[in-house]
Amino acid sequence: MIVNERIVSYIHSLEKSNGPLLDEMEAYAKENRVPIIRKEVESFLRVLLEMQHPTHILELGTAIGYSAILMGGCIDENSRITTIENYEKRIPVARKNFERAGRMQQITLLEGDAAVRLKELTEPCDLIFMDAAKGQYIHFMDDVLRLLKPGGILVSDNVLQDGDIIESRFAVTRRNRTIHKRMRDYLYQLTHHEELRTSVLPFGDGVTVSVKLGKEFLKQNR
Ligand code: SAM
Repeated sequence: MIVNERIVSYIHSLEKSNGPLLDEMEAYAKENRVPIIRKEVESFLRVLLEMQHPTHILELGTAIGYSAILMGGCIDENSRITTIENYEKRIPVARKNFERAGRMQQITLLEGDAAVRLKELTEPCDLIFMDAAKGQYIHFMDDVLRLLKPGGILVSDNVLQDGDIIESRFAVTRRNRTIHKRMRDYLYQLTHHEELRTSVLPFGDGVTVSVKLGKEFLKQNR
Protein backbone atom coordinates (compact mmCIF):
# COMPACT_ATOMS: atom_id res chain seq x y z
CA MET A 1 0.00 0.00 0.00
CA ILE A 2 1.50 3.33 -1.02
CA VAL A 3 -0.85 5.57 0.96
CA ASN A 4 -1.28 5.58 4.74
CA GLU A 5 -3.64 2.70 5.57
CA ARG A 6 -5.86 4.72 7.90
CA ILE A 7 -6.34 7.42 5.28
CA VAL A 8 -7.32 4.78 2.73
CA SER A 9 -9.82 3.23 5.21
CA TYR A 10 -11.27 6.64 5.90
CA ILE A 11 -11.68 7.40 2.18
CA HIS A 12 -13.31 3.98 1.69
CA SER A 13 -15.72 4.70 4.54
CA LEU A 14 -17.04 7.66 2.54
CA GLU A 15 -17.96 5.51 -0.47
CA LYS A 16 -21.59 4.64 -1.16
CA SER A 17 -22.78 1.20 -2.24
CA ASN A 18 -22.75 0.57 -6.00
CA GLY A 19 -25.95 -1.44 -5.85
CA PRO A 20 -26.55 -5.17 -5.20
CA LEU A 21 -24.95 -6.59 -8.36
CA LEU A 22 -21.64 -4.72 -8.09
CA ASP A 23 -21.53 -5.32 -4.33
CA GLU A 24 -22.03 -9.04 -4.96
CA MET A 25 -19.32 -8.99 -7.67
CA GLU A 26 -16.96 -7.24 -5.29
CA ALA A 27 -17.53 -9.95 -2.67
CA TYR A 28 -17.01 -12.66 -5.35
CA ALA A 29 -13.76 -10.99 -6.42
CA LYS A 30 -12.50 -10.90 -2.86
CA GLU A 31 -13.41 -14.53 -2.22
CA ASN A 32 -11.89 -15.74 -5.48
CA ARG A 33 -8.87 -13.45 -5.47
CA VAL A 34 -9.84 -11.67 -8.66
CA PRO A 35 -8.13 -8.28 -8.85
CA ILE A 36 -10.59 -5.45 -9.44
CA ILE A 37 -10.22 -1.68 -9.19
CA ARG A 38 -9.84 -0.18 -5.75
CA LYS A 39 -12.53 2.01 -4.27
CA GLU A 40 -10.58 5.23 -4.63
CA VAL A 41 -9.92 4.47 -8.32
CA GLU A 42 -13.61 3.77 -8.78
CA SER A 43 -14.68 7.22 -7.63
CA PHE A 44 -11.88 8.81 -9.64
CA LEU A 45 -13.10 7.05 -12.80
CA ARG A 46 -16.69 8.07 -12.11
CA VAL A 47 -15.70 11.73 -11.90
CA LEU A 48 -13.60 11.51 -15.08
CA LEU A 49 -16.49 9.92 -16.96
CA GLU A 50 -18.87 12.66 -15.87
CA MET A 51 -16.34 15.24 -17.09
CA GLN A 52 -15.48 13.52 -20.36
CA HIS A 53 -18.85 12.05 -21.49
CA PRO A 54 -17.10 9.42 -23.63
CA THR A 55 -19.02 7.78 -26.44
CA HIS A 56 -16.56 4.88 -26.81
CA ILE A 57 -14.44 3.45 -24.00
CA LEU A 58 -11.80 0.79 -24.45
CA GLU A 59 -10.75 -1.27 -21.45
CA LEU A 60 -7.76 -3.60 -21.39
CA GLY A 61 -8.37 -6.22 -18.69
CA THR A 62 -12.02 -7.12 -18.04
CA ALA A 63 -11.55 -9.70 -15.27
CA ILE A 64 -15.17 -10.46 -14.22
CA GLY A 65 -16.55 -7.21 -15.66
CA TYR A 66 -16.70 -5.13 -12.49
CA SER A 67 -15.13 -1.91 -13.79
CA ALA A 68 -16.88 -2.23 -17.17
CA ILE A 69 -20.30 -2.42 -15.48
CA LEU A 70 -19.36 0.42 -13.16
CA MET A 71 -18.31 2.60 -16.12
CA GLY A 72 -21.38 1.55 -18.10
CA GLY A 73 -23.52 3.05 -15.35
CA CYS A 74 -21.75 6.43 -15.63
CA ILE A 75 -22.06 6.98 -19.36
CA ASP A 76 -24.86 7.61 -21.80
CA GLU A 77 -27.01 4.64 -22.74
CA ASN A 78 -25.85 4.93 -26.36
CA SER A 79 -22.17 5.11 -25.44
CA ARG A 80 -20.30 1.86 -25.74
CA ILE A 81 -17.51 -0.02 -24.01
CA THR A 82 -15.14 -2.51 -25.64
CA THR A 83 -13.26 -4.61 -23.12
CA ILE A 84 -10.59 -7.27 -23.67
CA GLU A 85 -9.79 -10.30 -21.48
CA ASN A 86 -7.56 -13.30 -22.10
CA TYR A 87 -8.15 -15.47 -19.02
CA GLU A 88 -10.56 -18.18 -20.15
CA LYS A 89 -11.97 -18.83 -16.68
CA ARG A 90 -12.99 -15.20 -16.24
CA ILE A 91 -14.59 -14.64 -19.65
CA PRO A 92 -17.87 -16.59 -19.03
CA VAL A 93 -18.19 -15.02 -15.58
CA ALA A 94 -17.84 -11.55 -17.11
CA ARG A 95 -20.38 -12.35 -19.85
CA LYS A 96 -22.88 -13.59 -17.28
CA ASN A 97 -22.38 -10.43 -15.25
CA PHE A 98 -22.92 -8.20 -18.29
CA GLU A 99 -26.14 -10.10 -18.96
CA ARG A 100 -27.28 -9.75 -15.35
CA ALA A 101 -26.51 -6.03 -15.48
CA GLY A 102 -28.58 -5.71 -18.69
CA ARG A 103 -25.54 -4.31 -20.49
CA MET A 104 -25.01 -6.80 -23.33
CA GLN A 105 -25.86 -4.11 -25.89
CA GLN A 106 -23.53 -1.57 -24.34
CA ILE A 107 -20.48 -3.71 -23.55
CA THR A 108 -18.58 -5.81 -26.11
CA LEU A 109 -16.20 -8.36 -24.64
CA LEU A 110 -13.32 -9.36 -26.90
CA GLU A 111 -11.60 -12.60 -25.96
CA GLY A 112 -7.87 -13.10 -26.26
CA ASP A 113 -4.59 -11.34 -25.83
CA ALA A 114 -4.97 -7.58 -25.88
CA ALA A 115 -1.72 -7.30 -27.88
CA VAL A 116 -3.46 -9.18 -30.71
CA ARG A 117 -7.03 -7.92 -30.36
CA LEU A 118 -5.89 -4.27 -30.21
CA LYS A 119 -4.41 -4.57 -33.70
CA GLU A 120 -7.85 -5.46 -35.09
CA LEU A 121 -9.53 -2.35 -33.68
CA THR A 122 -10.02 0.74 -35.79
CA GLU A 123 -12.78 2.70 -34.06
CA PRO A 124 -11.37 5.71 -32.17
CA CYS A 125 -11.96 5.92 -28.41
CA ASP A 126 -12.38 8.89 -26.09
CA LEU A 127 -11.24 7.03 -23.01
CA ILE A 128 -8.95 4.05 -22.61
CA PHE A 129 -8.64 2.26 -19.28
CA MET A 130 -5.41 0.27 -19.12
CA ASP A 131 -5.84 -2.40 -16.44
CA ALA A 132 -4.25 -5.60 -17.77
CA ALA A 133 -0.85 -7.19 -17.01
CA LYS A 134 1.46 -4.40 -15.84
CA GLY A 135 4.48 -5.71 -17.71
CA GLN A 136 2.60 -5.37 -21.00
CA TYR A 137 1.39 -1.78 -20.82
CA ILE A 138 4.43 -0.58 -22.77
CA HIS A 139 3.67 -3.06 -25.55
CA PHE A 140 0.12 -1.77 -25.90
CA MET A 141 1.17 1.83 -26.16
CA ASP A 142 1.41 2.27 -29.96
CA ASP A 143 -2.05 0.84 -30.53
CA VAL A 144 -3.50 2.76 -27.61
CA LEU A 145 -2.18 6.02 -29.06
CA ARG A 146 -3.45 5.10 -32.50
CA LEU A 147 -6.96 4.47 -31.14
CA LEU A 148 -7.16 7.43 -28.75
CA LYS A 149 -8.87 10.51 -30.20
CA PRO A 150 -7.17 13.90 -29.80
CA GLY A 151 -8.48 15.19 -26.47
CA GLY A 152 -9.04 11.57 -25.38
CA ILE A 153 -7.99 10.31 -21.97
CA LEU A 154 -5.78 7.35 -21.11
CA VAL A 155 -6.03 6.08 -17.52
CA SER A 156 -3.45 3.47 -16.48
CA ASP A 157 -3.93 1.64 -13.18
CA ASN A 158 -1.43 -0.04 -10.83
CA VAL A 159 1.60 1.84 -12.11
CA LEU A 160 3.51 2.21 -8.83
CA GLN A 161 3.75 -1.51 -7.99
CA ASP A 162 3.09 -1.17 -4.26
CA GLY A 163 5.91 1.36 -4.08
CA ASP A 164 8.52 -0.94 -5.66
CA ILE A 165 8.79 1.42 -8.61
CA ILE A 166 11.05 3.79 -6.65
CA GLU A 167 13.48 1.03 -5.69
CA SER A 168 16.60 0.23 -7.67
CA ARG A 169 16.24 -2.86 -9.84
CA PHE A 170 18.56 -4.74 -7.47
CA ALA A 171 16.23 -4.13 -4.53
CA VAL A 172 13.33 -5.70 -6.43
CA THR A 173 12.95 -9.47 -6.38
CA ARG A 174 14.41 -11.10 -9.48
CA ARG A 175 10.92 -12.31 -10.43
CA ASN A 176 9.65 -8.71 -10.61
CA ARG A 177 12.64 -7.10 -12.34
CA THR A 178 11.29 -7.27 -15.88
CA ILE A 179 7.96 -5.74 -14.85
CA HIS A 180 9.80 -3.09 -12.84
CA LYS A 181 11.91 -2.09 -15.84
CA ARG A 182 8.99 -2.12 -18.25
CA MET A 183 6.80 -0.06 -15.93
CA ARG A 184 9.55 2.52 -15.48
CA ASP A 185 9.93 2.69 -19.27
CA TYR A 186 6.17 3.03 -19.63
CA LEU A 187 6.01 5.89 -17.11
CA TYR A 188 8.89 7.62 -18.88
CA GLN A 189 7.11 7.29 -22.23
CA LEU A 190 3.84 8.59 -20.81
CA THR A 191 5.49 11.62 -19.28
CA HIS A 192 7.79 12.43 -22.23
CA HIS A 193 5.73 11.51 -25.28
CA GLU A 194 5.12 14.59 -27.44
CA GLU A 195 1.47 13.68 -28.01
CA LEU A 196 0.64 13.26 -24.33
CA ARG A 197 0.29 15.29 -21.16
CA THR A 198 0.44 12.99 -18.15
CA SER A 199 -0.06 13.26 -14.42
CA VAL A 200 1.17 10.44 -12.15
CA LEU A 201 -1.10 10.19 -9.13
CA PRO A 202 -0.06 8.32 -5.98
CA PHE A 203 -3.37 6.79 -4.90
CA GLY A 204 -4.66 3.24 -5.09
CA ASP A 205 -1.62 1.42 -6.44
CA GLY A 206 -0.69 4.44 -8.54
CA VAL A 207 -2.71 5.81 -11.43
CA THR A 208 -1.71 7.91 -14.42
CA VAL A 209 -4.05 10.15 -16.36
CA SER A 210 -2.89 11.24 -19.80
CA VAL A 211 -4.59 13.42 -22.33
CA LYS A 212 -3.77 13.11 -26.02
CA LEU A 213 -2.98 16.52 -27.44
CA GLY A 214 -4.71 17.78 -30.56
CA LYS A 215 -2.86 18.16 -33.89
CA GLU A 216 -3.18 21.96 -33.77
CA PHE A 217 -1.42 22.11 -30.43
CA LEU A 218 1.39 19.89 -31.68
CA LYS A 219 1.86 21.99 -34.85
CA GLN A 220 2.13 25.23 -32.88
CA ASN A 221 4.58 23.82 -30.37
CA ARG A 222 7.03 22.03 -32.67
N1 SAM B 1 -10.60 -3.96 -14.92
C1 SAM B 1 -11.00 -5.04 -14.04
C2 SAM B 1 -11.89 -4.50 -12.95
O1 SAM B 1 -11.44 -3.54 -12.28
O2 SAM B 1 -12.97 -5.03 -12.75
C3 SAM B 1 -9.80 -5.72 -13.42
C4 SAM B 1 -8.79 -6.20 -14.39
S1 SAM B 1 -7.56 -7.19 -13.63
C5 SAM B 1 -6.64 -6.05 -12.73
C6 SAM B 1 -6.52 -7.52 -14.98
C7 SAM B 1 -7.11 -8.50 -15.99
O3 SAM B 1 -6.36 -8.37 -17.20
C8 SAM B 1 -7.01 -9.93 -15.56
O4 SAM B 1 -8.27 -10.54 -15.54
C9 SAM B 1 -6.09 -10.59 -16.59
O5 SAM B 1 -6.46 -11.91 -16.92
C10 SAM B 1 -6.26 -9.66 -17.77
N2 SAM B 1 -5.11 -9.61 -18.68
C11 SAM B 1 -3.80 -9.57 -18.35
N3 SAM B 1 -3.03 -9.49 -19.44
C12 SAM B 1 -3.88 -9.49 -20.50
C13 SAM B 1 -3.69 -9.46 -21.90
N4 SAM B 1 -2.47 -9.42 -22.45
N5 SAM B 1 -4.77 -9.48 -22.70
C14 SAM B 1 -6.03 -9.54 -22.17
N6 SAM B 1 -6.26 -9.57 -20.83
C15 SAM B 1 -5.21 -9.56 -20.02
